[in-house]
Amino acid sequence: MLEREDGLGRHQTGNNSGVIHAGIYYAPGSLKAELCVRGAARMYAYCESKGIAFEKCGKLIVALEEAELLGLEELQRRGATNGVPGLRRLDASGIREVEPHATGIAALHSPETGIVDFRAVAQAYARDLLEAGGSIVTGCDVRSLEAGARSLSIHHAGGVVEASNAVCCAGAWSDRLAVASGADPDPRIVPFRGAYLQLTPVRRDLVRSLIYPVPDPSLPFLGVHLTKRIDGEVLIGPTALLGTRGLGRTLAWPGSWRMFRRWWRTGLTEIKHAALRRTFVAEAARYLPAIEPGDVTPSFVGFRAQAVARDGSLVDDFVFSRTERALHVRNAPSPGATSSLAIAEMIADEAERAF
Ligand SMILES: Cc1cc2nc3c(=O)[nH]c(=O)nc-3n(C[C@H](O)[C@H](O)[C@H](O)COP(=O)(O)OP(=O)(O)OC[C@H]3O[C@@H](n4cnc5c(N)ncnc54)[C@H](O)[C@@H]3O)c2cc1C
Repeated sequence: MLEREDGLGRHQTGNNSGVIHAGIYYAPGSLKAELCVRGAARMYAYCESKGIAFEKCGKLIVALEEAELLGLEELQRRGATNGVPGLRRLDASGIREVEPHATGIAALHSPETGIVDFRAVAQAYARDLLEAGGSIVTGCDVRSLEAGARSLSIHHAGGVVEASNAVCCAGAWSDRLAVASGADPDPRIVPFRGAYLQLTPVRRDLVRSLIYPVPDPSLPFLGVHLTKRIDGEVLIGPTALLGTRGLGRTLAWPGSWRMFRRWWRTGLTEIKHAALRRTFVAEAARYLPAIEPGDVTPSFVGFRAQAVARDGSLVDDFVFSRTERALHVRNAPSPGATSSLAIAEMIADEAERAF
């Protein structure tokens, strides 16, 4: 395994909400739906077998207004079709039983949703790889892959490695690596900056588990949510703002401009959330009225590798592609961490067929 950073889990895997999603949101029949439900079951079993701390704390998706009830019903329908176990509908008093400080007119409760530290999971995957006889080289930036008749030349910062085949899982760089190996430039990865706040330790008891809004079905983001972490911290966020890292590259992609034209209103709201802690907290206080600006401090920032198609659409589903002697993970946004073991099984099957 060749990794450009000096350690593992430095990008999305080590800087995310830490939620083991149950599979509620995703369109039935999509790869996300299938791989999330299977991946969550695999993830719980894996953590159990490796002694990695996790908690099935459950999650509420809360409707505040009548207008959101249809969306909530659709989520319940999707969840049931996707095979998510234990989903139940709650009224206002049911919400308070699960989360005494939360408010809303109705909610969907998912008892199977949980939390884990995905950095610890990645470290365990690395140990598995070493135990199976593999090796890991860090500080090794892969630049391109060149397929020959007998082998694949992997050009990296320190030279060239010859391999029979390769699987590329490069997150925010996945499109560049795929294109440098001869793949189609569509879709392009556009980085979105996700900043989090956290509750101060004395206010953590406001949240027992996970509180989410009913998401906008046309966006692949889940909205500002309150998330208990396995270490006890409570996160609020994330924002979803266009990342400025590699902005020139983002602007050179025609799909980015088409996306701006479609989503500029949402973009303005996100800029407001990112710039003004008060409006960000006010958004969270719609679900948790007791929370005030003085109850939060800044937490970490995660960069979401989101694929954007040439026509400007945000690619919702996982995308995998092939070049000669190589497989590429082209779009693995949330719930990619939850789904990782199911994605790995799928890629291993595909590798057996293709190689
Ligand atoms: C803010 C945020 C919140 C999220 N919350 C959740 C959640 O609660 N639950 C969930 O299931 N998912 C969540 N996700 C999604 C999840 O984190 C990702 O789906 C998952 O981590 C993707 O893993 P990855 O290995 O594809 O990418 P990454 O974790 O980004 O890893 C890519 C790796 O490739 C390396 N690399 C890149 N280019 C090269 C190169 N040229 N040569 C060598 N190495 C290279 C990088 O250094 C990095 O280590 C969230 C994501 C974000 C950003």
